[in-house]
Amino acid sequence: MPALGHRNMAGLYVHIPFCKQRCIYCDFYSTTRIHEVARYVQAVAAEAALRAIELKGEPLTTVYIGGGTPSMLGAEQLVRLAQALRAQFDWTQVEEFTVEVNPDDVRDATLPAALAAMGVNRVSMGAQSFVDSELHLLRRRHDSRQPARAIALLREAGIDNVSLDLIYGIPGQTLGTWRASVDAALACHPQHISAYNLTYESGTPLWRMREAGQIVEVGDDDCVDMYTLLVQALTAAGYEHYEISNFAKPGFRSRHNSAYWTGAPYLGLGAGAHSYDGTTRRYNPDDLTAYIQAMEAGRVACLAESLEWWERYDEMIMVRLRTCEGLDLDVVEQKFGSCARAHAQEAAKPYLSTGLLKAHGTTLHLTEPGVMTSDIIIRDLMWDADGIVQTQ
Ligand code: SF4
Repeated sequence: MPALGHRNMAGLYVHIPFCKQRCIYCDFYSTTRIHEVARYVQAVAAEAALRAIELKGEPLTTVYIGGGTPSMLGAEQLVRLAQALRAQFDWTQVEEFTVEVNPDDVRDATLPAALAAMGVNRVSMGAQSFVDSELHLLRRRHDSRQPARAIALLREAGIDNVSLDLIYGIPGQTLGTWRASVDAALACHPQHISAYNLTYESGTPLWRMREAGQIVEVGDDDCVDMYTLLVQALTAAGYEHYEISNFAKPGFRSRHNSAYWTGAPYLGLGAGAHSYDGTTRRYNPDDLTAYIQAMEAGRVACLAESLEWWERYDEMIMVRLRTCEGLDLDVVEQKFGSCARAHAQEAAKPYLSTGLLKAHGTTLHLTEPGVMTSDIIIRDLMWDADGIVQTQ
């Protein structure tokens, strides 16, 4: 994975916590109370006015409206939201403006035209699978033909930069059906693909179905085979594998997410959204009613938590090792001191000797076999790997 440099950015994230129906694997904060949409958009506009000052006049370089399902706001509310945001922030430097879109919400030219008018230049679409039985099981509301149609409508409106999300490890999925989904995704010619292993989060319907024996989890070895197939197919098709789960055509990496991975500051608006200024994380309540009531009363609703140095160190280990840039031990030392560097170096030794990590100069990278056990390697390099927080 070749490395590219990053520069600091001020990012804006807006969370739209509405979904028409809940997917069985989802444990994100979202609600089906769609009658609250107009009130919610007004609440986000109020929060933008209250909190724009936190960016200290820094111009935005990336804007990301995620969810939930932002596209289900519809053209009118999305345009209203964008106008409210533009009124509060310096938008002159925005390079990337992404909106997450459900393929089922793009049935004609209306939404694509509204997105283009808002200045959106990138769409992230949750395709997840191109096999109808798998989509049905996950309780997605689109079918396998809708992503290609939606992408064509978006491109006709001038939005050419498309990212597709895929999921592997779906119960009943085989290497053959996964190959079919990867091929169908490639046939849409997206500039970016994100692929995630299905996870069983406690309390989700998916979790309960497995407990009740209604579905069988795909085994670890099969998931490794699916991931290997994905990496090979996408690399052969000209995508850069720039983060464990992310692939991009040259020049089309997600700038917004890349900024998260370098620890750049961002402001998060909306119910359940997080913000980070380099040292402090702020959390909005993941409760629609509490959020709307706070905004209508003109109150900032977020809780703040100052991160300890070892929490910031752990976060750096977690995100940097997942990227093709890797973890630079010189940067670890500059930010956290020689003790942190020595800790990372010592913990990395067994993985360097077994070939799961490799070093280029002062930078550690996961090797391809290392990616398969990245969770364990990352945990071992973290400061409180044994659950004991040491003090420096
Ligand atoms: S659309 Fe996304 S946020 Fe909504 S339920 Fe499905 S996975 Fe969760």
